[in-house]
Amino acid sequence: MHSNKAAKMSTQLDAKLDAYWMPFTANRQFKQAPRMLTGADGMYFTDDKGRRVLDGIAGLWCVNAGHNRPRIVEAIQKQAAELDFAPPFQMAHPKAFELAERLVELTPAGLNKAFFTNSGSEAVETALKMAIAYHRVRGEGARTRLIGRERGYHGVNFGGISVGGMVGNRKMFGSMLAGVDHIKHTHDPARNAFSVGQPAHGAEFANDLENLIALHDASTIAAVIVEPIAGSTGVLIPPQGYLQRLREICDKHGILLIFDEVITGFGRTGNPFAAQTFGVTPDLMTVAKGLTNGCVPMGAVFAKQFIHDAFMQGPEHLIEFFHGYTYSAHPLACAAALGTLDTYAEDGLLTRATEMQGYFAEALHSLKGEPNVIDIRNLGLVGGCELAPLPGEPGKRGFSVFLDCWEKGVLVRTTGDTVALSPPLIIERSHIDHIIDTLRSALKRVA
Ligand code: PMP
Repeated sequence: MHSNKAAKMSTQLDAKLDAYWMPFTANRQFKQAPRMLTGADGMYFTDDKGRRVLDGIAGLWCVNAGHNRPRIVEAIQKQAAELDFAPPFQMAHPKAFELAERLVELTPAGLNKAFFTNSGSEAVETALKMAIAYHRVRGEGARTRLIGRERGYHGVNFGGISVGGMVGNRKMFGSMLAGVDHIKHTHDPARNAFSVGQPAHGAEFANDLENLIALHDASTIAAVIVEPIAGSTGVLIPPQGYLQRLREICDKHGILLIFDEVITGFGRTGNPFAAQTFGVTPDLMTVAKGLTNGCVPMGAVFAKQFIHDAFMQGPEHLIEFFHGYTYSAHPLACAAALGTLDTYAEDGLLTRATEMQGYFAEALHSLKGEPNVIDIRNLGLVGGCELAPLPGEPGKRGFSVFLDCWEKGVLVRTTGDTVALSPPLIIERSHIDHIIDTLRSALKRVA
């Protein structure tokens, strides 16, 4: 009976769209009215009907230099013709070293070792494993507990969904990694609604970590992982002093602090990394997305020297860190990343958000007072506009706004009922005006 139902459903859809099972998408709904992108250039996508669509979200928080940048395209083409693949275990190719060196010039002081992965999710798993193994190689094998944060998003693998704080994961996948706890999230609209930049209230949310330490004892805790700005759960900006407090508590108890900068890395907040913007340096830092401007899948973990050194002094003499991927430091990804770093440098993009953030903030906050807008949050060139949910139908109002903007030629993203903006860093004032005007009209129409 089930298969009949499924067969009937699929005949209603375009047969050509049937085989591809799309990620994080309501497939049946999408396939009835597909949104197809067929080209891109600079700030714009082109769709299959030839319309230009202004990209308000840098693809998926990743195309920081804008689309189809020539230097990156050429770097990938050249690399593909020169060296398509090199095994990354017990072998290497020069661009992997060159890239690591270039990257650690940009990272916060001390984060001077780079380990490559293929995605943000893999970077997260790698960082969590590195943290646990670090304690183990120095004889503190009881430190296995991992602490995440409510409303955190750390990708989709089992470590990431365990330390993450998205309700949907627990509903669909049941029990997670054992030995994981969460500190409170920092969203406090009663005190901080419509804050421009970092909210004033909430540094004390970090003290929740002390409660978990009192409960489990620091000697069992390996690491704490947070996004400096929680992106995928609604653009939550850390309150003033909050990250500093987390750092102090971790230092006091020998716990590693991991920043997941998959969204905030590569210029989003006005510095290469949000750690620099907030003046707090983690022990491990994960990145992806903007690392290659979204062109070729790649992620990375940056580690402090002392973490790396602990492995070098460990007992194993053939393999120091028992972890890696077939495509770690893939030549095409390294070439794309090097082309991306050149493009960021040439266009001054890693600090451009500093110049643009005032205009962006003012435009975004001008939506206060539009129908259903209950909060607006921003920092650098990332922002969120939160809408009151439709009673009993969370996410629906946000999605209607997304669809309306798409129909009017602007791509935004909604997470629940928060409309997120995270445009390419090449954005000009006229693009900001266009995005905000379109969003304003959508808010009015959807109301
Ligand atoms: N961490 C954070 C903070 C993210 O925002 C994301 C993706 N949005 C990930 C990890 C996962 O990255 P990926 O989709 O490349 O696996």
